[in-house]
Amino acid sequence: MEEKYYEVLTKIQEADGIVIGASNGLSISEGIHIFADDSSFQENFGDFREKYGFRSIIQGCFYPFPSEEEKWAFFSRMYNYFLYKTEASPVMKNLYELVKDKNYFVVTSNIDNHFRQAGFPQERLFEIEGNCRNLQCMNGCHNQIYPGDEILSKMAKSQENGKVPLDLIPKCPECGGLMQVHIEVDRNFLKGESWQTSYQAYQDFTRKAHGKKLVLLELGVGARNQLIKAPFMRLTNIEEYATYITLNKGELYIPDEIAAKSIGINGDTAEVLQQLVQMK
Ligand SMILES: [Zn+2]
Repeated sequence: MEEKYYEVLTKIQEADGIVIGASNGLSISEGIHIFADDSSFQENFGDFREKYGFRSIIQGCFYPFPSEEEKWAFFSRMYNYFLYKTEASPVMKNLYELVKDKNYFVVTSNIDNHFRQAGFPQERLFEIEGNCRNLQCMNGCHNQIYPGDEILSKMAKSQENGKVPLDLIPKCPECGGLMQVHIEVDRNFLKGESWQTSYQAYQDFTRKAHGKKLVLLELGVGARNQLIKAPFMRLTNIEEYATYITLNKGELYIPDEIAAKSIGINGDTAEVLQQLVQMK
């Protein structure tokens, strides 16, 4: 095992570019499981669970709430749940520590803002499915994304009986219509200028890495993931000096055609990252 860790560290140290790909499994290693009906969900969302019958944060994100007061009660609670700790988790701190001096880029489907919180700059980050702190017009009347921190924390604090006060409910500054959190829960999700800019930055990063030593570091991405995993495998396949490193607990999947260029660690991501930083 130790040998494998050194191999990973050497690849990271020698890399000209590192692309980090992260999904739900990384959040789970931080203790946040958006698909689970666990004690943390019951403790923080128990009133919603009882009232509407949904059994996880992700089900709540897709729930057709009967009113805006109730919808915003949920989404502001979720915002608060992801971000009430101002300090990043040890997992995210270790990840940042591991790559901060390198040339890196992050692509993630996580919506919890934890990369930003740990110090990863926005220009090195592509949040494919959005971020729970941002708002958009629900009608998509224009493409602007708005920072929602202030209103979301206010709504999280002042909800009663599962509702936020009417006067706190955000309205689109352009059309006056309803708004929603900028996360991909339906077809309204805007892929406007800021989304396109991040997407382009990701494309540019991998293009510039062509022919160089590229590390694709995948954290907690499921075997069937098409958004993040499929492009990583394609890049590993076509790039001569690419290395695919995957950390995943119990769901390690490396296809034969890239096996020679791959390192897989089947273990608790939190512990593996801690170990890597200590050995650095
Ligand atoms: Zn609008």
